Parts: sequence; structure tokens; C-alpha cells
Amino acid sequence: MASAKKYISRNCEICSSLEYREVHRILEYRIVECMKCHFVFLDPVPGRTPVEIYDEDYFRGKIAVENTFNVEGWDFFEPENFRNFLTQCRARLDRVETFTKGGTLLDIGCGIGLFLHEAKSRGWHVHGIDASPFAVSYARQELGLETVQQMDVDNLVYDSGTMDAITLHHVIEHVINPRRLLQSASRIIKKGGILVIETPDISSKRAKRAGLNWKYLRIPEHLNYFSAATLNRLLEQTGFGVLQREYAVESTGMMNALLGGEEKARSLYDQWSRCGAFRWAVRSTRRINEYISGKLVGEFDILTVTARKR
Ligand SMILES: [Zn+2]
Repeated sequence: MASAKKYISRNCEICSSLEYREVHRILEYRIVECMKCHFVFLDPVPGRTPVEIYDEDYFRGKIAVENTFNVEGWDFFEPENFRNFLTQCRARLDRVETFTKGGTLLDIGCGIGLFLHEAKSRGWHVHGIDASPFAVSYARQELGLETVQQMDVDNLVYDSGTMDAITLHHVIEHVINPRRLLQSASRIIKKGGILVIETPDISSKRAKRAGLNWKYLRIPEHLNYFSAATLNRLLEQTGFGVLQREYAVESTGMMNALLGGEEKARSLYDQWSRCGAFRWAVRSTRRINEYISGKLVGEFDILTVTARKR
């Protein structure tokens, strides 16, 4: 079903300014930078609804028609991708647990629910929402996550002050109203609760060097291109204080090599992942590895910000 509106025009989400300069032009879209606060965003945005964009094809790595060049799809269900994604989910949960010990967790844009599945197995009370009917039905039926619901991020129907942690992994770049999303998160989360946002970093050396070929310039999915500075500003405006910033690259493969290959690394992780010291060692090694690759070749282009609700 086609949407009524083909394109939607936008103001700057951070400072409402209408003054911006064009950074890139891709098909009928422009990626623009606000002259006042330097927030980078897509204008106009496609009028297609999230339900139309995030269908089964999306999760199986098939590319949308108007997608930009140099973008590869990512099939979540290809066995190796699935296993890598599970490892990534565990690392993400380790991060959340560094700041808060269990409780109620809401994963916004939870996709097929693997992260929540892992969180539930570690004792969290989990909730999740996703715009995609396909992903939600997978999470509910295949992973038994009955508290995952199909819901529009613009209208989150959770009670105020109910969540100990909210996670947004590669979600904020997809939503048309990131400010409204963080305002909702701020309302739903308990005072002192933890918000984690992971998103591509437009101010990274890699993004600058790659220009139009940067892998995260994805149209029609990516509407917002944050940097630490613009994300920090939006978090401050919506009632959060930043606790930690981390920069990452997609797995360099070094850790698996050190542990004797991917299969071995995975079975070690499966065996020891309940041991806090092991998780700490894995996390530290990964961070050292990423720090080195980032420092030496400037390859960091994923930003993760952990913030606390004031
Ligand atoms: Zn602005």
C-alpha cells in the first residue's frame, strides 16, 4: 500500500533552524547540515511508513529500490550473521550491565528480538517494540517473547517511570522525530535509569573520508546522522546526562583469530559467558583491539552513548 505523501520536508531536530547547507545529493534526496548546530539529516524524507520499509525483505538483506549505492544488505538469518549478531547482543548487554544490574528493560526497535532473548535469559524483565510486523511476529513466535509488540516509536504506550534501562541500537538514525523519541524515552525511564544509544558517527574520520561512499549513508532508512556533539545536545535537552561515550568499528576479526578461529571463539563464549570475569576480559580485549585499529587507521565510525535519566 503506497503512502499518501511521497516526501516529507523537515526542520533541524536539534535547534529548529531552517538554515542548512547541502552536504550530499542522492537521487531526489539531500543530506544537509544545520548551519547553527551542525546536525546532519536527510531532507526531504521518504513518505513511506516504517511498516512499508521494514518488511521481511529488509531483515533478509534485500535492498529497497531507492537505496543508495555501495550498500550491501544484511541477512539476519544467514547462520554466520545470526551467530555474530548474537555475540554482538551479548556484548551490548554486558555494556548495559556495567551501569545497572537487572530490572526492567525496553529495547526500542528490537527487530527480531535476539538482544531481548539474551537479556531475558540473564534475568531481565524485557519489553520490546518494533515497527516491523515481520520482526515482531518472529520475536513472539520463534523466541517466545510475548512482551514484544508492534508499535510506532512516535506513540510509545508505556507508563511513566517504569523502565530501568532503555536501549536504542541502530534505531535513532531511522526515526523521523528523534527528539520526540528521546522525550518519550525520558518519560518512560525511571529517574536514574540508563539509556544506551548506538548509531553511526557522521563526524568520524571514516565517514568524512568515504564521503558519498560511507556505508551508513543509507536511503531510505537512515534519516539522521548524529555526531557525539549533536547527540549530546539532544540528550541534554531531553533530560539525560551522558555517562560514557564509546567508539567502535565493526568486528575486526582479531579476537576470533587470537582465540583460534571463529568456531572456537564462539564455543568458548557459550561456555564462559555467565562468568563476569570472562565477559570483562572479552570486553576489555575488544576495546583494546578497537582502540588500536581506531587510533592507527581512524576506522571508528560507530558511536555508543550511555546516559542517565536525571
Ligand atoms: Zn540545528
